[in-house]
Amino acid sequence: MKFATKAIHAGIEPDESTGAIMTPIYQTSTYVQEEVGKHKGYAYSRSKNPTRSALESSLAALENGKFGACFGSGLAAIDCVLKMLSPGDEVISTNDLYGGTYRIFSTIFERFGIKFHYTSMDEPAKVKALMNEKTRLVWVETPTNPTLKVIDIEKLASLTKETNVLLAVDNTFSTPYVQRPLELGADIVMHSITKYIGGHSDIVMGALVTSNSDLADEMYRIQNASGAICGPQDAFLALRGIKTLHLRMQRHCENGMAVAEHLQKNPAVANVFYAGLPDHPNHGVARKQMNGFTGMVSFDLKNDSAENAHRVLKRFRLFALAESLGGVESLAGHPATMTHASIPVDVRRLSGISDSLIRLSVGVEDIDDLLFDLDQALA
Ligand SMILES: *Cc1c(COP(=O)(O)O)cnc(C)c1O
Repeated sequence: MKFATKAIHAGIEPDESTGAIMTPIYQTSTYVQEEVGKHKGYAYSRSKNPTRSALESSLAALENGKFGACFGSGLAAIDCVLKMLSPGDEVISTNDLYGGTYRIFSTIFERFGIKFHYTSMDEPAKVKALMNEKTRLVWVETPTNPTLKVIDIEKLASLTKETNVLLAVDNTFSTPYVQRPLELGADIVMHSITKYIGGHSDIVMGALVTSNSDLADEMYRIQNASGAICGPQDAFLALRGIKTLHLRMQRHCENGMAVAEHLQKNPAVANVFYAGLPDHPNHGVARKQMNGFTGMVSFDLKNDSAENAHRVLKRFRLFALAESLGGVESLAGHPATMTHASIPVDVRRLSGISDSLIRLSVGVEDIDDLLFDLDQALA
């Protein structure tokens, strides 16, 4: 099946008891058993719930993986991956990272004896240099957040396979429509469903997908043992969002490209960060591993100060000032004071997050209205 067909049909069976074409919201905590130990595969909804199972199968199919697990947030999904590790283990991570991911690494799991190394992953050699016998996991986010660098997943996968280290990719920014890390050799894909997959800014949820049955056993064991699951109502909304994922992503990619090209011509703008631009340093890798370049566009200002960025943000009429991304509506944010405020200033500047950097999540509105809003805010 091709992607668009999978988005609508994969993992979804008409309801057996009624024929309902849409997966019902199984709002139930428990299931009656015929006799002790004899049930229909569902015993208690922390362990398994039919609405959540449909979503897990759908996501696994979209990522071309075998096993999916959904959680109460993207961070709960990340928490599950880290709980596969033990004290003394080491992790190598992208330095240009979602702020919340950096926070769970540095304020929760470091305390439990896991060591984290950060590097730009533009060269696999930089990752290799940090590896030792304790390295268990390489954590990649690509495109990176918020400077939208692109990391070569295939090259890293050949390194991690050679050294028997797990490779996990946060695929939130790309979605499986744009990029499928398992096909490129990754072991685990992570999503914040909150963003493009949900697509309508109405849920907070996360997911993991893998094709490795040993990892899947661990994933389901931790999902059940730690209990950070999502509810059936949210699973239903995510399933509804997925049915238009391919259509939304096509438009997000088109609008993202048009916004990036337009910003490049604006005299107030210093740099535009978008892998779809031919002069982006990772344009070649992006073309190789991505199908489109998403709706995420960052730029900074010639007059580089936080105050100047705040002024521009205040003038937007369509781009709403908000955290998050990936919904149908356009959003704008200021990483230095919002999403990335929990990252120390020196670490932040080192990864290219200037004080005036503005991150746009370009929605699926009419492009003329979006370009008009950018022009008037930057005038
Ligand atoms: C939002 C986000 C997360 C965290 O997901 P939540 O659903 O907010 O917990 C992780 N990674 C990336 C890239 C994100 O954008």
